[in-house]
Amino acid sequence: MTVLPGATIGILGSGQLGRMLTVEAKYMGYRVHTFSPGTDTPTGQVADGEVSAAYEDLDVVKAFAKEVDVVTLEFENIPVKTLEAVQEFAPVHPGVKALRVAQNRLREKTFLSEHGFPVVPFRAVRAEADVENALQEVGTPAVLKTAGFGYDGKGQAKVSSAEEGRRAFAELGQEAVLEAFIEFGREVSVVAARGLDGSFAHYGVIENGHENHILDLSFAPSDLSQKVADKAVEIARGVLEALDVVGVMCVEFFMTHDFELIVNEVAPRPHNSGHLTIEGCVTSQFGQQLRAVCGLPLGSTEFLRPVAMANLLGDVWQKGEPKWAKALALPDVHLHLYGKAEARAGRKMGHITALGKDTEEVATRAREARASLTR
Ligand code: AMP
Repeated sequence: MTVLPGATIGILGSGQLGRMLTVEAKYMGYRVHTFSPGTDTPTGQVADGEVSAAYEDLDVVKAFAKEVDVVTLEFENIPVKTLEAVQEFAPVHPGVKALRVAQNRLREKTFLSEHGFPVVPFRAVRAEADVENALQEVGTPAVLKTAGFGYDGKGQAKVSSAEEGRRAFAELGQEAVLEAFIEFGREVSVVAARGLDGSFAHYGVIENGHENHILDLSFAPSDLSQKVADKAVEIARGVLEALDVVGVMCVEFFMTHDFELIVNEVAPRPHNSGHLTIEGCVTSQFGQQLRAVCGLPLGSTEFLRPVAMANLLGDVWQKGEPKWAKALALPDVHLHLYGKAEARAGRKMGHITALGKDTEEVATRAREARASLTR
């Protein structure tokens, strides 16, 4: 079913991803309603309607679904029961299958390896007694991660011995996954989209740098060989198809020093590493998400110019209000702020995008712009 401009899009979740999707939807004349437990949220501030209730309050969820023409989500920890309730009244993209897999690392890694995608060697750790065996099989050092509800490096610990592993497991306090620590050369991602008709579009390979397990800087297009880039895109396409995704999905990879690609995580929604498509590409990842979930043709993913994105975490506010005018005085720099009131350390508050002649220039410019905020 095609959902045409003038119709109402429902978004489950209300963070920055929903905000940027809403802005895109407003350009095209859609109305947007957002649903989350919060009020005055990043998405709610720009949407036409903001429903504030627990995701488990299925009566409110159903009332929300009746008011909209199609529903999408901007956050993968929406309970499956919520999605099922929505489905009674409105189509939802991505669907239950992708959500179930993506919201639990154990299910995700099992699904990916069963479908032949390359993943980091891993073992389930369901009880303290599993730690030792898992470590023996995976080897040391290893990384212990919560199976559910973990993102941006929250709920993970590097461990080198059974003792450390047991302690980390006790601290996580829930089912976990132990995976091999990968000495990767680079981290890259492929942001791709699948339309209602099965059409496919991708933004090629984006290169990512993390600090303290949180995305710090992304740039594109990557200078990787066509062969490696094609391989990454082929894996991403396979994952979107295997999960029946309609919408944008990001596949994050570790790339070893000899260019082997290993899937780290998948996210069935627009992704932080794809924010650079807003200024960098003919169609942004948010425009693409909108087209896909509305059953419209996917847009061109062509890069207009090399582009880099630097995240602005709450830490940038530590010395007071950042010096916005300084960053904006630099050429080809754009500022995005998400409307979050409280600048906590590690919290994603906004990002800076820089355009330029090559990836080296744009990465330097984005870093420079961010540094100028606090100088
Ligand atoms: P995640 O939340 O699993 O995406 O992890 C966040 C970041 O932590 C990754 O982007 C890597 O920089 C680092 N990391 C996570 N897992 C591993 C691993 N198995 N080996 C090496 N680094 C890792």
